[in-house]
Amino acid sequence: MSFDPARFRALFPIFAAAPADGPALHYLDSGASAQVPQLVIDAVARHDSTARANVKRGVHRLAEAATEAYETARLSAARYLNAPSPREVIFTGGTTGAINLVARAHGDLLGEGDEVLVSMLEHHSNIVPWQLLQTRRGIRLSVIPATADGRLDLDRLDELVTPRTRLIAVTHCSNVTGAVTDLARIVAAARAVGAKVLVDGAQRAPHGPIDVQALGVDFYAFSGHKAFGPNGIGVLWGRGELLEAMPPFMGGGEMISHVSFAGSSWAPIPNKFEAGTPPIAQAVGLGAALDWLSEQDWPAILANEMRLTGRILDGLATIPGCRILGPGGLQQRLGVISFALDGLHPHDVCQFVDATHGVALRGGHHCAQPLMESCGLVGTVRASLAPYNDDGDVDALLDGLAHAVRQLR
Ligand code: PLP
Repeated sequence: MSFDPARFRALFPIFAAAPADGPALHYLDSGASAQVPQLVIDAVARHDSTARANVKRGVHRLAEAATEAYETARLSAARYLNAPSPREVIFTGGTTGAINLVARAHGDLLGEGDEVLVSMLEHHSNIVPWQLLQTRRGIRLSVIPATADGRLDLDRLDELVTPRTRLIAVTHCSNVTGAVTDLARIVAAARAVGAKVLVDGAQRAPHGPIDVQALGVDFYAFSGHKAFGPNGIGVLWGRGELLEAMPPFMGGGEMISHVSFAGSSWAPIPNKFEAGTPPIAQAVGLGAALDWLSEQDWPAILANEMRLTGRILDGLATIPGCRILGPGGLQQRLGVISFALDGLHPHDVCQFVDATHGVALRGGHHCAQPLMESCGLVGTVRASLAPYNDDGDVDALLDGLAHAVRQLR
C-alpha cells in the first residue's frame, strides 16, 4: 500500500470544479464536513437509480435489493469499527442522534444521584443531551477539566470518578484542539467503579478505522458527513447486552415485534432503535465510504497529516499575537488546529482568507462554548485537515493569515 496525495485528491470532484469567481478552493474545514469522493456520489446515485425502495418491509425484488444494500452498509460500518456483530450497529442521523439515543435510552436506566462524567472539551452534542437527562432523571453531571494545552486533564480522574459514576462520555478527538483522548485511562477508571464509556468519535473516525474491541469502550458514535459519506447518516455502536437492556427511545414502524392496544413489544436490536424509514441511500453511501477508507494506507496518510499539521503550527508560531489552543507537539493529536489572533474576530479572519486566498476555515465557538469560556475567548479560527490537503493548502492558509493580520489589525 502507499499514499499519493495527488491521486487521493483527484478522487474528489469538488477540487476539479473551477470556482465561479475568486481564487481556487483550499478546503481546510473537513472537521465540519468532509468532501465526498466520486465513488460515494456514484454509490448513492446507483442505489437510487437501481435499488430504491423502502427497506425491511417489502417482499418485492426491489425492496429486497434495498434491504440487502442497507444491511450490507451496516456490515461495512461494523467492519470499520471492528464491532463483534453488525446487530450492534445502529444507523442514526449523525453523532448528535447517536449520543441522544444513548442519553434517552440508556439514560432511562439511570436515576437520582447517578453520575455522568463528561469533559470540558466536549462538543455541545455531548453536553446538552446529558443536561436534558439531568432535568429528566435527576442525574448529577460532572466535568473533567482541560489542561492548559487543550487536552483532558486525566490527573483529575481519580477524584471525579466516584462509586456513583455510571457513565463517562468523552470525545475521542477534540473538534477544537485536535487532542486525542487517552481512552485506556478513561476505560480503566470507569471499569474500577463499573461505569460505562461512551466515545464521541465524530472527529476521530475520519482519520482511519477504529477498533472498539481493542479500545474496550461501550458506545461509539460518529457522523457520515465528516467521514467522506453523505449527510443525514451516522453510526452508533453499542455492546449488544447494553443495547438489549435499553428501552427504545423512539416509537414507530419497524422497531416493534407486535403492536396491540393491550401493549406492544419490541423488535430485536438493531431494529429496536431504528423506528421509521431510515436514511437508506445515505447508509449505502456511507458503507461505500467506509469500505474505501478501510483500504487506505493510514500510517502513510497520518504521517502526511502530521507533517502538514507541523507546518501549520510552525507558521502560526511566527505570527505575533497568535494563540494556539491545542497541544504544541505532534504527539496525541490530529490535524485539527485552533488559534486566536489578538485583536481580530475569527469571523473576520475567515471571511478575509476565503475572499483573498480561497481558504475555507471555520470560525466561532465550534459548538464548544464551555471550553471557549474557560479559555476566555468568544471563538477561534480552526483549520482541519483531510488526506486531500496538500502543501498548497498550507501555503495559502499561512499567506492568507499573514495578509489578514497586515490588513485587518
Ligand atoms: N462531536 C464532535 C466532536 C463534533 O465535531 C461534531 C460536529 O462538529 C459533533 C459531535 C456533531 O456531529 P453532527 O452534527 O454530525 O451530529
